[in-house]
Amino acid sequence: MARPVKYWSYLEGYAQSRGEILAAVDRVFSSGRLILGNCGAAFERNLAAYCGAAHGIGVNSGTDALFLALKALGVGPGDEVITVSNTAVPTVAAIRAAGAMPVFVDIEANTFLMDVARVAEKLTPRTRCLLPVHLYGQMVPMAPLLELAKSRGIAVLEDCAQATGASQHGRKAGSLGACSAFSFYPTKLLGGFGDGGMVLTSDAELAGRLRRLRFYGMERNYYSVEEGFNSRLDEVQAAILDLKLKTLDAQIARRREIASLYDRGLAGLGDLRLPACGEGNVHAYYVYTVRTTRRDELKDFLAGREIGSQVNYPTPIHRMSGYAFLGGRPGDLPVTERVNAEMLSLPMYPEMADDDAAAVVDCVREFFAQG
Ligand SMILES: *Cc1c(COP(=O)(O)O)cnc(C)c1O
Repeated sequence: MARPVKYWSYLEGYAQSRGEILAAVDRVFSSGRLILGNCGAAFERNLAAYCGAAHGIGVNSGTDALFLALKALGVGPGDEVITVSNTAVPTVAAIRAAGAMPVFVDIEANTFLMDVARVAEKLTPRTRCLLPVHLYGQMVPMAPLLELAKSRGIAVLEDCAQATGASQHGRKAGSLGACSAFSFYPTKLLGGFGDGGMVLTSDAELAGRLRRLRFYGMERNYYSVEEGFNSRLDEVQAAILDLKLKTLDAQIARRREIASLYDRGLAGLGDLRLPACGEGNVHAYYVYTVRTTRRDELKDFLAGREIGSQVNYPTPIHRMSGYAFLGGRPGDLPVTERVNAEMLSLPMYPEMADDDAAAVVDCVREFFAQG
């Protein structure tokens, strides 16, 4: 008597808030201003205040948030940016779009996050920026990175695409680096109904530069003071995201409840390792990722019972043919590669029922009981 469980879905959430969401869409359509209007400006203020930054600049996507932040920080051709290879491709696509080169540092095996102790080894005279990725819903240890960056006079750009609302020692993701980049891709912790992104910064000069860069390099209409781009957060998405921001903390609390159901139900099974939480972190569980040497078998077993799961991500970027020009070889990043072969993310979204989590637990227990 199996109970199917989807890996992720927005449909239950939409059904619950449909009236409010459609009213927000109607407010935008009826406002008389469809581009860079009041909804976008309000959401910029609200997300910046929520995260503890002074300024928010809404853009088209998380990728653009990273790209424009790098441009605003002056990162370009000839520069190196230190990041990780187990991130989503957009982190690296943004570095390349800015004309710079990504340099990969290995990860820490228990948290899957950048191994901050190894960042110094990767510094060269060309290093211009450190780009920690707060993967899976928790923050990279920031204190050592901020100290290293300060001593070298380089910038820290936080990739917060998977960590909106996560915190470390009481500070929210996105409040610590010179700039931080957020994505509102639908699956994300704060997800829209389409694409969207934002850069946060507490530096007024960087904020001004970012506002120009997203608007053809203009401060006033039809006059570019520098070369810019078109990358704006859509008013409709901003209005919906502003609504959803109000329930973000409750949604994260619900994700943490589901995670604790998994933690209790899955402890001590075979070689299964449960996700670790870094020191001082409040984990927002964008995904709940376990490790086992029997990953592919487990994934197939779950699929056979109509339980969704996903590998985030199937191939580290230094091993992708599209990035072969970076010269990555097998064995370059041993921890990244080992973890990559063993990890599996289980169903996780706030509208999941306790019974859904229990069905996942039962299925994983059955898999390991069969030996
Ligand atoms: C989703 C994501 C991005 C990019 O976001 P888009 O809005 O899809 O462009 C960047 N970095 C990470 C780590 C992500 O997960």
